[in-house]
Amino acid sequence: MTSSAPASNPRSRSHRRRTVLLALLLASLVVLLVVRADLRHPATRIVGQVVHGTLFDLAGLSPRRVYAWRLWIAGLYDAPLGRRWRQAPERAVPDSFEHRIQARLDFAADRIDARVFTTTLAHGNALSWRLDRRETPEAGCLYATLERRTDNGWAHVASLATDGQPHRYVVETDGRFRVVLQPELAAPVRGGIALARGGSLPFPVVDGHGYDIGGGFGVARDGGARQHKGVDIFADRGTPVRAVAEGRVTTGNGGLGGHYIFLSSGFTRPRFYYAHLDHFAVDNGAHVAQGDVIGYVGNSGNAQGGPTHLHFGIYTGGGAIDPAPFIQARPSLPERPNRG
Ligand SMILES: [Zn+2]
Repeated sequence: MTSSAPASNPRSRSHRRRTVLLALLLASLVVLLVVRADLRHPATRIVGQVVHGTLFDLAGLSPRRVYAWRLWIAGLYDAPLGRRWRQAPERAVPDSFEHRIQARLDFAADRIDARVFTTTLAHGNALSWRLDRRETPEAGCLYATLERRTDNGWAHVASLATDGQPHRYVVETDGRFRVVLQPELAAPVRGGIALARGGSLPFPVVDGHGYDIGGGFGVARDGGARQHKGVDIFADRGTPVRAVAEGRVTTGNGGLGGHYIFLSSGFTRPRFYYAHLDHFAVDNGAHVAQGDVIGYVGNSGNAQGGPTHLHFGIYTGGGAIDPAPFIQARPSLPERPNRG
């Protein structure tokens, strides 16, 4: 140990030098994007989008806020124009939606507007979007962000890709969310947006539906001695149940769960619990793909004598969480309107 210490010194110094160089490179890239307006040329927009979409999201930085810094550098931040631009999302009348929504975008160059869409999302929900923009020679940058309501206003969550392809974001914290669309100053942007919310996982019972869910999460059991740590999905005996994610299966017998399965996707991912099974479709330790049949509905364990159902639970490092938002119907984006 000690004999290798002197030799590792120059190596750690060169490692430190490399880290500093990398940090400088990243910093100059960010500064470049802030200062150099010409980087938004379509040819380099992809690179800009990648930088916005990853670096800025990781740092919790909104590209819209970075543009506000650009206004500051240009001396416009506190000018009426700059102030009006910064306040546009708060001035906009938000469109609230429950399941899905679709809207045409038409930002004129001579107006300072933002479009805002709001919805409530729970841990395990997915928000899907498809954001089209019509490219014209004079079109400028369109800032599209997902934000979550906090005590201090709206916090940046993710940047939305504007490539016309369907994308989705899986929610990790319950709350009120908004999607903000705003072009840079004097930039005409036209296009359309579609948004949809729903569950992020497939339904665990084959051909099952949300209305088959009986006992909800958190209701009292055994006269209030314990809480229900999952949802009960009622189905006929022998109905196949599927893996909601790829992972490794652990089968077990006994206790409240009867014939039960734990499905694990990795240390940092939640574990999925399937209880009261009639029998298993896979062996203990099997590796399964998302959608594979792993067992069959029954009433084993403390469900014996009662109606057959799947007890489905989701466990994270912090304990059991409500599976319901995960297994709602998947988000379905509205079709593109016909452009006649
Ligand atoms: Zn149950």
